[in-house]
Amino acid sequence: MTTETTAPVLELKNVSKTYTIKQGMFGEKKPLRAVNDVSLKLERGDVLGLVGESGCGKSTLAKILLGLEAPTSGEVLVDGEPIGDQNRRILARRIQPIFQDPYSSLNPRKSIRDIISLPLRVHKIGNSASQEKAVRDILDVVGLPARVMNSYPNQMSGGQRQRVAIARALIMKPEIVICDEPTSALDVSVQSQILNLLVELRREFGLTYLFISHNLAVVEHLATRVAVMYLGRIVEESPVDALFDAPRHPYTEALLASVLTPDPDLDVPDTHLGAAYPNPIDPPSGCHFHPRCAKAMDICKQTAPTLLAEGGRKVECHLYDENRTSLQPA
Ligand code: SF4
Repeated sequence: MTTETTAPVLELKNVSKTYTIKQGMFGEKKPLRAVNDVSLKLERGDVLGLVGESGCGKSTLAKILLGLEAPTSGEVLVDGEPIGDQNRRILARRIQPIFQDPYSSLNPRKSIRDIISLPLRVHKIGNSASQEKAVRDILDVVGLPARVMNSYPNQMSGGQRQRVAIARALIMKPEIVICDEPTSALDVSVQSQILNLLVELRREFGLTYLFISHNLAVVEHLATRVAVMYLGRIVEESPVDALFDAPRHPYTEALLASVLTPDPDLDVPDTHLGAAYPNPIDPPSGCHFHPRCAKAMDICKQTAPTLLAEGGRKVECHLYDENRTSLQPA
């Protein structure tokens, strides 16, 4: 009897992306490790929330997944196949993005009909009659009336524009949707409507989401698991409930504390970490988080911690070294 194993719908294996940055006109060139040895798995129907402050590497990771950037090393697999080996047209049907700012991601000179049907036309799917029907159907799915087909982006509200962006992504019937801060440009009152829509669409179409956000509170709403990113590395990964009940990494604790003390005037939650986010071209020694960490020990300044795992949770922090806990190397 053979045992059938199913590959994760999306898998990153030791993915890194390094840019070479020149500092000043005659400055030396230095490497910037935007993504540093990231491994993640998404099973079908998962919603993985990827959380971290601005500049931590989340958006670079999204570009790699969408094929807009090639990793410097490591592999991205969709249904077990490396994306580099896959036909770009087929890949575009499997993975679609929803970006932060629907206004800048929608062509202002095109009608909503043209914007939503563009992927069908690019990929030569159907004829004009079937494309028109597909646009009507998907508008209905995202809660917009068919009459908006003749409108232009500047005639719509921010929430309506994001619904159009979601319709454009879903018209290709993708398996995976990369949501890059999809609600952070919207009014607070509209954010929850869009989040609820994404929850409903996942249920209806069995979608798998990678949901990128700087705000843990947004991720809690729909994620099944959460990965916390700091200076290009995943420092904690956990099922969502376990992470909110008992965060392990001091950085996750700080992000959670910022969620508990929201300031409606602040787009980015205040992490109250004292020291500023470090320059990624010149990261701190040892654990990159040590200058901001309230629990830093001597070892943290000298030695980078290794990733440890236990029962579906992972953490990269010396507080959990084997002489202190039962966690095992991941
Ligand atoms: Fe803080 Fe040390 Fe853990 Fe880094 S390794 S998060 S500095 S306790």
